[in-house]
Amino acid sequence: MVVTIDTDQTTGYEPWRAEASCGTLDGTLAATFFSEELQDIATAKRICADCPVIADCLEGALERHEPFGVWGGQLFLNGRVLTNKRRRGRPPKVARPEDEFPLVAVPERLIPMLRTA
Ligand code: SF4
Repeated sequence: MVVTIDTDQTTGYEPWRAEASCGTLDGTLAATFFSEELQDIATAKRICADCPVIADCLEGALERHEPFGVWGGQLFLNGRVLTNKRRRGRPPKVARPEDEFPLVAVPERLIPMLRTA
């Protein structure tokens, strides 16, 4: 029996990363994906929504209990997925549309792995 493992066990390299929409050679998107700013987070989630490897990315992030950042279209903090995040300071009386995150669906097979905060 032949078993194929999708991760290089010696380097941790995951082949799907070659197709990642955020995989710019100069790393300029890193600040967007690891930002505290709501608009950056929303931008990162929009990039993820069109990424061809979103399910693989999210699965990996859930398995690693990612401590921070946007992975697979979801915002992580301490291994949990945050469904929203407030701007610093007093909340406005009327919600700002630019503070709303785009809703990125979680693949059904990964829903049991979700830990939300
Ligand atoms: S889903 Fe998002 S974080 Fe993951 S590889 Fe694609 S663009 Fe990057």
